[in-house]
Amino acid sequence: QRFRRMAVRAELLKNIRQAEPYVPGEQPQNKVIKLNTNENPYPPAPGVERVLREMDTDRFRLYPDPAAEELTGCLAEYYGVDRDQVFVGVGSDDVLSMCFLTFFNSGKPVLFPDITYSFYKVWAELYKIPYETPALDEQFRIVKEDYYRENGGIIFPNPNAPTAIYEELDFIEDILEHNRDSIVIVDEAYIDFAGRSALELIDRYDNLIVTQTFSKARSMAGMRIGYAVSNPELIRCLNDVKYSFNSYTMNQTAIACGVEAVRDKEYFEEHVRKIIETREWAKEELHRLGFEFPDAKANFIFATHPQTDAGRLFEALKANDIYVRHWDSERIGQYLRITVGTREEMQVLFDFLTKYIKGE
Ligand code: PMP
Repeated sequence: QRFRRMAVRAELLKNIRQAEPYVPGEQPQNKVIKLNTNENPYPPAPGVERVLREMDTDRFRLYPDPAAEELTGCLAEYYGVDRDQVFVGVGSDDVLSMCFLTFFNSGKPVLFPDITYSFYKVWAELYKIPYETPALDEQFRIVKEDYYRENGGIIFPNPNAPTAIYEELDFIEDILEHNRDSIVIVDEAYIDFAGRSALELIDRYDNLIVTQTFSKARSMAGMRIGYAVSNPELIRCLNDVKYSFNSYTMNQTAIACGVEAVRDKEYFEEHVRKIIETREWAKEELHRLGFEFPDAKANFIFATHPQTDAGRLFEALKANDIYVRHWDSERIGQYLRITVGTREEMQVLFDFLTKYIKGE
């Protein structure tokens, strides 16, 4: 009897979806220098606070507009596309997971780099999507020729995470040209710190989806807003799947605050410029301290120090209330992923690093 029950249970568990979960960076509640999850160190556009203050809470009785037309319309205007080319979701993680569910179910392997944003593997495993992960080259660059083979879809971030390496548009176009029959998703979570966006290619490639987020350059990670831009046909497919998962609809507060943040272009551009300036200075400082890193074009730097154990340094930083992300991989070794904070925060980091590295 007992053995039979165990066998039934084993059969049951076999059919339950299991995946190795994504491990998010720590969110300490006390005041620390937080350079571990690529958030923006500046507050959102000032109008966002006003929107929250003036919010008509009576509206909360009602469900939000499931199509979030206020926000899709505002983003469409901003990017010069039609509203039916924009899909919004609860952070770009939500949008991307919806893309996996919608487009990557052909049974053929989906391709994404090793190394890249670790959530791709989680979704593929959770949704039982086969995948292959072509390795980055020695310089941590994506090898585009690895994506010229039959596949069930392609996804990569540009700039890539955690390397922060940005590829120019001709690189993206080569991949699109060789994959006319499969969907190519370019995850542009960090594009505003980098260069030209693949949004420029949307009209020419009907297999392209570009995703972006309010979490980084727009300083609104806590609001959870992300979006995809593509052609109306693919956006309609995403909406069809989304409405089958009704809980993914964005809430009224996020919609109203998102609209306000998009409207304040000046504030946005000024703060992106500030972060880029700080990043360039931080690269010089890290270089001076003997760190090695690929040329960072995002709001973070993926660095290692040949004479310093990254694991121990990570712990020492944390003990001093400076949080960065520790990356330990068998293939490439140990790295620190350091988010670009304010100039003052980075100065505290560099003062600590100078002492630590001299003292070792
Ligand atoms: N893509 C990449 C490459 C990321 O690093 C992140 C943030 N961790 C996301 C997507 C998701 O960001 P969000 O859900 O906050 O929009």
